[in-house]
Amino acid sequence: MRRPRGSSLLIALGIMGTLALITYTAIRFASNDRSSLLLLTPVRAASTPGAEDASPSSRTRALLIATAPSATATSLEPGQPTTPSPTPQAAYAGQLQAPVPQHTPLAGGALSEDWNPPPLEVPLARHPFDHYWLIRPVASSHNNAGLSYYPYGSNGPGDNLRIHHGIDLANPIGVEVYAAADGTVIWADRGHFNEYESITAYGNTIVIEHDFGYRGQPVYTLYAHLSALLVTPGQRVQSGQVIGLIGNTGQVSGPHVHFEVRVGRDSYYAVRNPDLWMAPYAGTGTIAGMIALEDGEPLYDAPITLINLATGQVVRRTTTYAGFGVNPDDRWNENFVIPNVPAGHYLVTSHYNDLIWSGEVEVLVGMTNWVDMEHGTAEDEPLPAYLDPEHPEGEESPSAP
Ligand SMILES: [Zn+2]
Repeated sequence: MRRPRGSSLLIALGIMGTLALITYTAIRFASNDRSSLLLLTPVRAASTPGAEDASPSSRTRALLIATAPSATATSLEPGQPTTPSPTPQAAYAGQLQAPVPQHTPLAGGALSEDWNPPPLEVPLARHPFDHYWLIRPVASSHNNAGLSYYPYGSNGPGDNLRIHHGIDLANPIGVEVYAAADGTVIWADRGHFNEYESITAYGNTIVIEHDFGYRGQPVYTLYAHLSALLVTPGQRVQSGQVIGLIGNTGQVSGPHVHFEVRVGRDSYYAVRNPDLWMAPYAGTGTIAGMIALEDGEPLYDAPITLINLATGQVVRRTTTYAGFGVNPDDRWNENFVIPNVPAGHYLVTSHYNDLIWSGEVEVLVGMTNWVDMEHGTAEDEPLPAYLDPEHPEGEESPSAP
């Protein structure tokens, strides 16, 4: 019996349909494999340089820190970015190709800015005054320390920059910027405008209000000069989530993220020193102190030299806060901070006109170490010779608010 023509057509269509389904499924599996490969690659690439020298626990923490952003990056919902921006995968690819910034090595065994050990785990408060509750907004595989010659409160090596209300993490354009802690995005746009001020110099800016307060006040972090904003106002973010990419938007002379901590209100005048909020690197602690005249008036922009007492070497130079507009910590009330100092015994000195301040301090790991600065005159208290801070001439100093 002959089959009607129609039925063989149906059989043919059925076979074609099955083949199409098999092909579709095969492509789908293949593309799934490809995407998971892309997501896995950054985790390997982001492993911390130098982690081999760290203790196993530090290494584990470093890997956890490096892994967290990749895991959260996948949770970004499509369509959320406000600006045309690369996908997280494309960003990773850009990050891998970007050259590592070269910095002048620092003298006497000071931490180099192109190699960073893993930060200690947050939250950390080994001293009752401490509140190291924030992670660094850039991975350890990139530069995640503030520029040493333009720290919080400084007016730059030539005293010609705006008094710095944050710290600058210099990195190539496209490097990922992380939320420093859990919170809600309250600003993600060009410049920063609110009831307190209007600032266009920040370029593309994100502000996060965190889920925790400090002494009854809200805590905010601000990330400026970004090339891409990957979050929108109202969005919940987790610590370590990729929120944007390093850029050079706004008023800058080189690509970096300008990072601020604000306490009490989201204002340029409510800033605090981020180096008292981000956990120090493994094996290091923070030195903080106050250099004041006899009437208690803080001495502005006084040069400070840090000498390692074991080696006699000058390991760091900085200055006291350069003027009004930057705030000390609510509990420490410092006017200078020297972050990430390897554990040990140090002498802190400052020469200003014919006056000398000096104090000894033992740096304990993972906490703020206060140094009492005694003062005298050059005649009655000779101290190790003071050398003018070497101004890193020719280096780009990103100028930002
Ligand atoms: Zn800055």
